[in-house]
Amino acid sequence: MRYGWFLLLLLPLALSPFPFYLTLLNFFALSGLVALSLYVLTGLGGMTSFAQAAFMGVAAYATALLAKGTGLSPWAGLLLGLLLTLAFALVLGLLTVRLKGHFLPLSTIAWQVALYILAGNLVGLTGGHTGLTDLPALVLLGLPLDTPFRYAFLSLFLLALLVLALYNLRESRLGRALLALRGDALTAASFGVDPAALRLKAFLLAGGIAGLAGFLYAHFLRFVNPTPFSLEASIKYLVMAVAGGVGTIPGVLLGAALFTGLEDWLKDLLPLLLGRQGNYETVAYGLVLAGILLLAPKGVYPFLARFSPKGEGRLSKAEPLPLPTPSGTPGEVVLEAQGLKKAFGGLLAVNGVSFALRRGEILALIGPNGAGKSTTFHLVTGAIPPDGGRVFLFGREITGLPPHRIHPLGLGRTFQHPHIFPEMTVLENAALATYARTRAGFLRVLFGLHREEEARALATAYQALKRVGLEDLALEAASRLTAGQQRLLEIARLLASGAEILLLDEPGAGLRAGEKRELAHLLKALAREGYTVLLVDHDMDLVMGLADRVVVMNYGEKIAEGTPKEVQRNPLVRAAYLGEVEAA
Ligand code: ADP
Ligand code: MG
Repeated sequence: MRYGWFLLLLLPLALSPFPFYLTLLNFFALSGLVALSLYVLTGLGGMTSFAQAAFMGVAAYATALLAKGTGLSPWAGLLLGLLLTLAFALVLGLLTVRLKGHFLPLSTIAWQVALYILAGNLVGLTGGHTGLTDLPALVLLGLPLDTPFRYAFLSLFLLALLVLALYNLRESRLGRALLALRGDALTAASFGVDPAALRLKAFLLAGGIAGLAGFLYAHFLRFVNPTPFSLEASIKYLVMAVAGGVGTIPGVLLGAALFTGLEDWLKDLLPLLLGRQGNYETVAYGLVLAGILLLAPKGVYPFLARFSPKGEGRLSKAEPLPLPTPSGTPGEVVLEAQGLKKAFGGLLAVNGVSFALRRGEILALIGPNGAGKSTTFHLVTGAIPPDGGRVFLFGREITGLPPHRIHPLGLGRTFQHPHIFPEMTVLENAALATYARTRAGFLRVLFGLHREEEARALATAYQALKRVGLEDLALEAASRLTAGQQRLLEIARLLASGAEILLLDEPGAGLRAGEKRELAHLLKALAREGYTVLLVDHDMDLVMGLADRVVVMNYGEKIAEGTPKEVQRNPLVRAAYLGEVEAA
């Protein structure tokens, strides 16, 4: 199916009598490459870059200068161009990917503008705005690619190849992790994804793709000047990707096709309409984008795709990844919190809380709303660093470690409000959890060498869905799940992750009575199988029939600990809960 993209290579044959359209076809392919770089960055990774044209420019000038200066083959220029773009992307990425909100796009703008000014002003090196002319043509297998017809085969071939590679990426642990990062970095990190490292790699990949496009651009026109690498150009690429549908591969390509056509058309039309020359295209793009996004907020392609039959998903028949075999003795302490403290401003949310979780038990952490249970959870799982106290997992201190380092040690968590990724299928949501148990890196994934591992990851996810009874919904979009099903999916995710210790924050919230009973049943069964469970709830009834032991918190402090019966009789606990009832 996907190999169908190589049918693009027939287009030059069809258009061969029309040299002008062959040129447009090349521009489409080059824009398509840049738009695909934005699919990686924005569509998958949720980052915005206004510097893709600058990355193109770095590679374009690199190959131009190398060719003019040394007479080496342009293919050496490709190597140099890619290395330089990656180096630039690395520097910019290291400086910015940790930044939140608008800082990343703003710094890419600064970078883009700075490089553009440099290209225009280092006249001795770059030829300034006149640029560098007479670049050599690319030669492939002895054939000079010196006509748009010939060139189109190369540019379209690379485009189709990249499409395949990016489908591989989308259907991999890295694609899922990027999508998860875009949705909610903390959840991604709780399954072992290192947000900063993965964002940086996506940034590098996107930079490299733009670099490839810049190289092809330079040797297609055989001339470079700063204009095509300006901020306007970067905006144009962003606009085309977003208008087409930046979250999908066909979408960004559709955007590239539409805007390549539109650009050409506007160049003729605008001067006629406005009666003067000038770069009014950018304004027109803005209007077109606004119009499209009003009508189809996710872009043209997702809008059209709604009307077409649903794509088929695949279930894997591969052998699931091996389950971890709990090795310790029942009853030993696996997780220990000592004197945890956390203040939010003047509010002591958690004040000196200690408890120990023992292998194979279900320990409940209960207390009225606002008691500090979720905060305690966040402290134990690394989601927020404690102000004081220590945490030990399997006897090893994990205080202050980030979630993505804690998870692989065998701890999985859910959230008070389900953190499900609606743009992924139920199966993919579960498969995200296998991230820390799988290894394929970007190179392996892009070349499709991860498929065996991927099949096992999907099989693992499917098995976990079966365990909680969601297997029939595996290929549905996760957005279609009910609140109860989302809770189950979160548990399935934990099972797929291979964690032995399950930390559940209010798993019963939003469930109906029947669903709660089933949940309790499932948790008990899991505990019998060797899982250790710490669950937070304020619902006394759910906890009483389920937990082996109970820790009670109120106003940030532990006020009682014991069996359900013991704490139920405890006057302090009764007072805390009665207080809540009276207040309610
Ligand atoms: P619980 O889960 O027991 O209902 P939480 O741990 O969520 O309680 O909250 C404990 C207290 O800390 C509450 O008073 C809550 O308002 C406050 N709190 C929790 N998180 C934050 C935060 N990020 N910033 C400020 N206050 C917070
Ligand atoms: Mg809570």
